[in-house]
Amino acid sequence: MIAPDVETGIARLRELIDAAQAIVPFTGAGISTECGIPDFRSPGGIWTKNRPIQFDEFQSSQEMRNEAWRRRFAMEEHFSRARPGRGHLALASLYRVGKAPGVVTQNIDNLHQSSGIAADDVVELHGNNTYAVCLRCAKRYELRWVKDRFGASGQAPDCSDCGGHIKSATVSFGQAMPETAMQRAQEMTMACDLFLAIGSSLVVWPAAGFPLMAKRNGARLVILNREATELDEIADLVVRDDIGTVLSPFIAH
Ligand SMILES: [Zn+2]
Repeated sequence: MIAPDVETGIARLRELIDAAQAIVPFTGAGISTECGIPDFRSPGGIWTKNRPIQFDEFQSSQEMRNEAWRRRFAMEEHFSRARPGRGHLALASLYRVGKAPGVVTQNIDNLHQSSGIAADDVVELHGNNTYAVCLRCAKRYELRWVKDRFGASGQAPDCSDCGGHIKSATVSFGQAMPETAMQRAQEMTMACDLFLAIGSSLVVWPAAGFPLMAKRNGARLVILNREATELDEIADLVVRDDIGTVLSPFIAH
């Protein structure tokens, strides 16, 4: 069913949430646009202006590593100022009352954690852009540390322990999907009775397979997205409206 208007959509969503035992929210860029995080894939987005740096280029070229970090620091303003939006707060409310065991996200902005969901319960399919890791020994680095050294030497720094390259903790183009996160997302999907796909165009595979997997496993499927998606036909409810508006009634105060 495609909701004819936002009030009907919210009312039907409330019925589905009330009836559910285990809800898995699955979020994409659309939940964070009201927080000032740019949607990288949208027309005019960063990835359409700058060709993405492939993982093998990052590993093999100091100049590409420098360029990757220059781009990251250029986005710092967006990321450091962003606060959770209404969608994040609504999902954190469902989490707090035990309705949702966690959240699966394609986003890298850390806003689910900022909204109060424990880091262990945020399954990040594309990693996290708010810290960095050594690609060889996995040591964690804060962006401040990288920025200070980059500023001093003009070169992206390597790991102080092992000399490996340090990259933001995101999954780059050409980099393998994180196995543990994929596994956990699948387990949560198979255990849920209501799957909420929020702000994702559901075109980026393999992530887009999760709503289909949930539906085939007998869960109800809700799609909240401004634009139509390829899975709208099989969804139990589709609301094509502003995500913050649709989810704000579910914020517990
Ligand atoms: Zn290292």
